[in-house]
Amino acid sequence: MLRWRAAQTRRSCGSSPNGEKPRPSMLRHLTSKIKATGPISVAEYMREVLTNPVTGYYVRNNMLGPDGDFITSPEISQIFGELLGVWILSEWMGGGRPKQLQLVELGPGKGSLASDVLRVFSQLRSVLGEASVSLHLVEVSPVLSRLQAQNLTGNYSQEAGAEDEPIYRRGETTTGLPVSWYRCLDDVPAGFSIFLAHEFFDALPIHKFQRTEKGWREVMVDIDPETPDRLRFVVTPSPTLASSTLVQADERRDHVEVCAEGGVIIQQLARRISEDGGAALIADYGHDGTKTDTFRGFKGHQLHDVLVSPGSADLTADVDFSYLRRMAAGGVVCLGPVTQRTFLKNMGIDTRLQVLLRNCADPSTRKQLISSYDMLTNPAKMGERFHFFSLLPHSRLSKPKKPEGLKMEKKSPAPLPVAGFSELSFS
Ligand code: SAH
Repeated sequence: MLRWRAAQTRRSCGSSPNGEKPRPSMLRHLTSKIKATGPISVAEYMREVLTNPVTGYYVRNNMLGPDGDFITSPEISQIFGELLGVWILSEWMGGGRPKQLQLVELGPGKGSLASDVLRVFSQLRSVLGEASVSLHLVEVSPVLSRLQAQNLTGNYSQEAGAEDEPIYRRGETTTGLPVSWYRCLDDVPAGFSIFLAHEFFDALPIHKFQRTEKGWREVMVDIDPETPDRLRFVVTPSPTLASSTLVQADERRDHVEVCAEGGVIIQQLARRISEDGGAALIADYGHDGTKTDTFRGFKGHQLHDVLVSPGSADLTADVDFSYLRRMAAGGVVCLGPVTQRTFLKNMGIDTRLQVLLRNCADPSTRKQLISSYDMLTNPAKMGERFHFFSLLPHSRLSKPKKPEGLKMEKKSPAPLPVAGFSELSFS
């Protein structure tokens, strides 16, 4: 994730009291695992460090915001979520205005994006007509799920009685919509859904591979023999299952990162969208199959060595959109990646900013609106590092069929353009 330096950086709320000491339980857990079974893949390392049910970084911490380790676009400006809300309504219309609309968010953080989207739904209730809307949140972190519940439902949510229930919390939003929490996408019910994933794919585990004279080899995490409580990277002497199956035959790079878990999730999204209709909007920093070594850590808004104090810092890797496209495998149409700047400008961010400024007299709020707009769109800030990518059913972009038996001179109307991915002109 792009971790912008906050003006005041403070220690992560998940750090140990002096802020520097490694969290021994995670390091001990990893070193005993490596002692027992040998070096572990980077994917396994990342999965353990981030989502281990007891000591995982995401499971224990609220890491978002100026006091945490990083800050994200929905936390920077309400305009971000509002424009995504408009995108969702536009795709719901493009999908034929179905009676049921499931809004599914993967990795909702503090719940700010969902909250801004739902505000747009309330303001544009007349557009949604009789459609019934429900909110479905896929979240691995109990700490964050409680925060999401507070922000979205006030006190109107309840945890499930049993630990193995697919819905582990449910409630009602402050505007009366049902909301449910799941640990994985598989548990979300089928139906027309718009999926949002903002800075979610970059948190999923990646495998790392290196080209050697003998062929592709996997990068693993091992204990440093010189300093037993330190970890180091090693390269496997022979191929692993992952290095034999996950690297493309025509790969040109010498180092590659592959997020197999992200590939599985894209396949699930593609199947759901092609079967039940809907769309997915994925926003993250990433590249289109060009970058090599992007695995990095963030702590207190600073870069952090990924192998030091595991569990005390966020770990992340750029999303390879070319891999996601390949995993979708033609089951859906893939649009993008386009830069965040292009997407937000196409969605009308300039006009929205002007409207907010027109209605705001307070100089400090005006200043804040302008600086957050700049943070989101400036090419040197988040504007060109973040990208938007979308999955849509093939039917969404095909021309509507002419009624049979009718000889019509006129061509079939073109499908509605997809907002954000092209400049909309109202002629
Ligand atoms: N979308 C939010 C938060 C991004 S941080 C924002 O942009 O502000 C990543 C989010 O994904 C967190 O909510 C984290 O707990 C969640 N997460 C990370 N790995 C996950 C996994 N494997 N399954 C479900 N949620 C996960």
